[in-house]
Amino acid sequence: MNEFSEPPVTNGYENVKHVKRVDNLEIESLPSGEFSRLFIEIVENGIGRPIQVPVVVARGKKDGPIMGVTAALHGNELNGIPVIHKLLQRLNLKTLRGSIVCAIGANMPGLLTERREFTDGQDLNHIMPGKPNGKISQVYAYNLVDRITQHFDYLIDLHTASEGRVNSLYVRADLKQETTAQMAYLLRPQIIVHNPPSDYTLRGTAAEAGKPAITVEICDPQKFQRDPIARTVKGIRRILNHIDMVPSKSASQSSATKPPILCRKSYWVLAERGGMMRCVPKIAERFKKGDLIATQVSIFGDTIKEYFAPEDGIAIGHCVNPIGQTGARILHLGVPMDERERAKFEKISGCSLDGTLCELPTGKKS
Ligand SMILES: [Zn+2]
Repeated sequence: MNEFSEPPVTNGYENVKHVKRVDNLEIESLPSGEFSRLFIEIVENGIGRPIQVPVVVARGKKDGPIMGVTAALHGNELNGIPVIHKLLQRLNLKTLRGSIVCAIGANMPGLLTERREFTDGQDLNHIMPGKPNGKISQVYAYNLVDRITQHFDYLIDLHTASEGRVNSLYVRADLKQETTAQMAYLLRPQIIVHNPPSDYTLRGTAAEAGKPAITVEICDPQKFQRDPIARTVKGIRRILNHIDMVPSKSASQSSATKPPILCRKSYWVLAERGGMMRCVPKIAERFKKGDLIATQVSIFGDTIKEYFAPEDGIAIGHCVNPIGQTGARILHLGVPMDERERAKFEKISGCSLDGTLCELPTGKKS
């Protein structure tokens, strides 16, 4: 069975054929207990035609929070799109509390041109929250936040590795924020990197506004990958259950997957020479300080440089494009927390990574 041969849809999602064209997200104006498909206008192109983002709003029968899920803010990072499809296809709106808003292709021009960046070469996740008056990418970023994501109470921003690289299934989150940390643990990826959001990202913009937000990196670019897609859907449902948006029966409680490795930080090991690169550790493989992690050979095939791990680490991601100039990214090295650090962060979130997740006192759920 591949990722498209799923059981028949029974929740009415596929029957919603009409797509409403609007210039803002007004959740209150949409019918409760129904799915609404929207094209939300963000900017205009050179002949005055709207550039629109496809959005689905699943509005539950009961009032509650707004969970936002965004995919393809980098236009060639596609695994988040089927994650959203599967999430919506299995949602029971009769029991859903609140609304789930999914921006399916957040960088629509990038998606259509199969590129990470916007049409003017800007990385949208480096210029958030944009500017109301500026270059087209800045206005696009501003309107994306102003018209869509500012309405969210929670944000799950779905990404993948960049072109020429591969990733593990990992989450970047500020583990010092209780709810954000809980979301990261509940997603149950292979790796979680403690990463207070840097400015100018969509996650940073949400966090700045006090909204719990995580970035999920779902493996590799320009692909649909069945297992990490399925695992991410299950993780999002666990988060929805935890904040009482979906009942526990419909959320997967399975702790069959290995607990995530918590990293205190991560960084890229960069090429010091130019040449053909080969990375040694497999994705999510751990290594010790001093282990060989990469080699580089010249165009004539001679080994010109060997790279050794500067400290104990785990391979969060690595290059697959062998051609590496000086400064090329070779290996994304995660620095795992020791027991003491892990315990400290688990205490902040009230979560344990051993399978008993986020046992919160009654009444603490929001
Ligand atoms: Zn990305």
